[in-house]
Amino acid sequence: MSIPSPLIVREVGLRDGLQSITRVVPTADKLQWLQAAYGTGLREIEVGSFVPARLLPQLADTAELVAAALRLPGLITSVLVPNLKGAQAALDSGAHRMLLPLSASRAHSLANLRRRPDEVVAEVGRIRAARDAAGSRCLIEVGISTAFGCTIQGAVAEGEVLRLVQAVLDAGAEHVGLADTVGFANPLQVARLFERGLSIAGHRLNCGHFHDTRGLGLANVYAAWQAGVRRFDASMGGIGGCPHAPGASGNVATEDVAWLFAGMGVPTGLKFEALMALRGRVAGWVGGEPLHGAIWRAGLPRTLQEIE
Ligand code: ZN
Repeated sequence: MSIPSPLIVREVGLRDGLQSITRVVPTADKLQWLQAAYGTGLREIEVGSFVPARLLPQLADTAELVAAALRLPGLITSVLVPNLKGAQAALDSGAHRMLLPLSASRAHSLANLRRRPDEVVAEVGRIRAARDAAGSRCLIEVGISTAFGCTIQGAVAEGEVLRLVQAVLDAGAEHVGLADTVGFANPLQVARLFERGLSIAGHRLNCGHFHDTRGLGLANVYAAWQAGVRRFDASMGGIGGCPHAPGASGNVATEDVAWLFAGMGVPTGLKFEALMALRGRVAGWVGGEPLHGAIWRAGLPRTLQEIE
């Protein structure tokens, strides 16, 4: 194998993770969480979402989190935005990146966003115009969810996902990622869809977002990596379970993704001891919510030298 390219893990626990937890974590705890996550070597963190506070009180302090994240040297501060209004808040906040979700499943899109996928594509164009008018350098990323299947619609045609990849880039998004938030994807499907996507979008398709709902999270990360993806979302302790399936595991766990790539000799810059310490603190902050992931059960091998 040639020299491995650096791998980026974007920590999404403070957004995707907390979004499904009803107990509101105090801002002071989140600020400690952010600082500790930075201390583990994470250099891209999704710190919140600019959704109306009445819909998601858990993330009402996103602007404060962004301000704190911007003070950490070398950290890429990412936020989720549901629409143009959220994007304007993101521009005002000074975040480096905004992520707009688009559901490839028409049924899921109508149920969750009350918009057809192509209406979201049009919103990308409006967000790009607003970003350019503001003279901001905030990067626009679209996360295509239900790219591998949908709980409402069932199968989602690969051709439709690829059409949307091209459409959001044409509309002004700079980056695009594929997400399996429902745990439907399998590794062969992931490899195939990313290979096809990379052939049309090149390096602009650069994020894999996988949930471990049915145990295939890490296998799917590996398949996407084999296809050429070098950036993955993950959450500490695998939080981010589905609100419709209580107890279901959530995002792939950051510490497990770090373990996967360390074992393969792919540098991530993440420090295991710090990740494990943070996991313990996250357990306290989310107050009894179940954590997931595998590496914590066995712990780190005693004979482990230095595999960061
Ligand atoms: Zn997710």
